[in-house]
Formats: sequence, C-alpha cells, structure tokens
Amino acid sequence: MSEPKLALGRSAAQAVRRGHPWVWREAVARAPRTLASGDTVQLTDETGAALGRGLWDASSPIAARVYLRDAAELDERLLGALAETAFARRDGLFDPADTDAYRLCNGEGDRLPALVVDRYGAVAVLRLDGELLEPWLPRLLPRLTRALGGRGVRTLSLRVAAEGGDRVRLRTLHGPDAPERAMVRERGMAMEVDLHHGQKTGAFLDQRENRARVRALAARHPRVLNLFSYAGGFSVAAALGGAERVTSVDSAAAAHATAQRTFRANGLDPAAHAFVSADVFDFLARAQTRGERWDLVICDPPSFAPSERAKPRALAAYRKLHAAAVRVLAEGGTLCAASCSSHVTAEDFLSTLDEQSLGGRALCLRELHGQPADHPTVPAWPEGRYLELAILS
Ligand code: SAH
Repeated sequence: MSEPKLALGRSAAQAVRRGHPWVWREAVARAPRTLASGDTVQLTDETGAALGRGLWDASSPIAARVYLRDAAELDERLLGALAETAFARRDGLFDPADTDAYRLCNGEGDRLPALVVDRYGAVAVLRLDGELLEPWLPRLLPRLTRALGGRGVRTLSLRVAAEGGDRVRLRTLHGPDAPERAMVRERGMAMEVDLHHGQKTGAFLDQRENRARVRALAARHPRVLNLFSYAGGFSVAAALGGAERVTSVDSAAAAHATAQRTFRANGLDPAAHAFVSADVFDFLARAQTRGERWDLVICDPPSFAPSERAKPRALAAYRKLHAAAVRVLAEGGTLCAASCSSHVTAEDFLSTLDEQSLGGRALCLRELHGQPADHPTVPAWPEGRYLELAILS
C-alpha cells in the first residue's frame, strides 16, 4: 500500500516550506479517511509537489507534525537520530558539577515534534504532546535508553495524566523508579524537584538563567518579593545572592514546604525569610495599604493566555498585575516581570509595562530575556517563543 498523502492548502504549504512544524486540521485540503494516530503521511502542496513527511494525530487540532523535509524514510531510526542530535546539542553546555537539570529535547524546537525530555540528574522525564508518538515509543525506547545511558541517565520515565483526575503521574519506562523528590543542581544552587506531581515535567527549567540573573542582582537589593513563587527557585537564588529578606507569595501552601527544604539544602535558614500563602492580587493590595516596599520584585505568573481569544483579557490582567507590583516597588528598585504565554509576544508583553500600565512610574527596560540555550526554537515557529523576562529599573 502506498503511503497516505496529505494535500495542504496554499498558505499551510508555504508555512511548512518555511519550517513551521505544524499542520492544523483545517489546513488539510485532502486526506485519506482511515488514518490513525502515529501513521506516517507524505505532505504535498495542492499541486502534489512533495513537502516532506509527518506523523498524523487523530485527535489533536494539530492534525500532523513535520519530521522530515526530504524524501528519506520516517521510521524509528530517523526519530532516534533526531533525538540523538537533540541530546548532542546539550553536550558541553553544562558542567555537571554546576548544573544537572536541563532540557534534553525541546520537541518542535529541536526538530523532533511532540517529544520533550527533561533531565533531573540521573532521571529523564519524557512528555509526549498529542497522541502521535505514543505508538512509536516502544520501538524508540531502546534508542533513547542507549543515547541517554551514555550521558549518565539511569531512569526514563513518562509523565502521564492520572486516571479520573488531573493529578499527573510518572510511569517508569526504563531503569529503577524515579524517587518522589530529587535534589538537583542548577548553576551551583541545590533545588528540590517534585518529579511525580511538580509542574511541567517537575520544574520550570526554562527560568534557570533568569534565576541566575536574579541571584546576581540580589546583592544590591536587600528586600526581595517573589510573586507566584511556586517551589521557590527565584527566592532561593535571591537569598544566595545576598538578599537579606525574601518574601515568597503563592496560593499553594505545599509549594512553600518545598521551597523551605530548598532553602535548607543551600545552607539558608528559611526562618529569616517570609512565606505567604495568599492570592497575589490580594497580597499586593494589603501590602500597598500597609505601605510595605521591596527593592526587587519578581513576578512570574502562570500563563494568562491559554488561547489567542484569551489574549486581550490576558494583557489586561498583566497590566493590572504590573500596576500593583510597582506600587510596592521601592524608589530605585528593580522589577523582573515574566510571561510564559506563547500567545503573548514580546511587544505585547512590553505594552503591559509601559508608563500608562505602571500608573505613571517611568522605569527603563534594562534587559529582556527569552528561553535559554537548552530550550531552542525554530525561526518559522513563533508559537515556540513563549517566555519573556523583562528587567526594569
Ligand atoms: N516562578 C515559578 C513558577 C511559577 S508557576 C518558578 O520559577 O518556578 C505559577 C505559580 O503561581 C504556581 O505555583 C501557582 O500555585 C501560583 N498561582 C497561580 N495563581 C495565583 C494567584 N492568583 N495567587 C498566588 N499564586 C498563584
């Protein structure tokens, strides 16, 4: 039987030619009827000219993802080679004595769509987006195990949604079971990661360099406020950098317990700092009334824009948040504001930090950071550039 062909409309074909890795379902002009998730498809334009090969996803709004732009075979050997290339991109990037937690494969950004692999010491956690790689996993596993084993990884685990709820679980694919919690190293700082229930694959590895930046800034900023502090990564970085008192605010009390263990693991006394379980907006309103001020305010909320439609509301929420954050920022202080919404571009995000948004406070944009080198992206795929950190003072 010949390989199924997927004919794409004009603009979708052009996007694939430019390097975009996704084919939206509505962009498929013609497709065979009997495709299952994981089936290989040949992509063509409307005239039948070949664009490359992809894998079909029967249930995602992204009907196919592109793995090949030439006539080579799309099989487990190719997928294994793409994974090996991704892992090799990190070789030499980190000194293991300094950093042993980082992203080994960033899916589309590494030209291996739908596969995310994060490393936490000897444990690699895989996450599959959509259904299309699931049928490939058993055949791919020996290749992943070999490539990762050679780099000191002993356990491969898969993040899966637990039955009947949205608590995620970890399924062991290879090696001994991953511990519930791992203590990893990040730029010389110890950091506890909840491998079974933590956000993303356990931690927000994409903020590593930004945490290191905050650590360097903290020496000149004795009072630090970390909003949406989660497991306390920015808080500990600030305390290690010399901040006298760090106030961490998050609505999840369990996250503070993790943060406090991470303080101790770094030889810091959590009792010298404050951990507040509260809604950030309520906290800021109360702090403003009490006249409290901080020299460095870090604001790294969850994504406010899950969809393009939600963007206007998200921008309004960022504006409100930034206005409230600068009201507690001391004269001469520094604001570190982050966004992790892929629908919010850097320009969009900066518009929420303009003088009107900040209630007339005129701060200068000193630095604007994106994703680190272990989170590569593809130029023709704007959806992959989701992270911004703006530093203003
Ligand atoms: N800055 C963190 C990541 C933040 S994740 C880091 O570097 O690791 C977002 C966090 O915001 C979660 O821990 C969640 O519990 C918290 N959160 C979400 N909405 C909140 C709200 N309105 N008030 C307080 N915390 C909130």
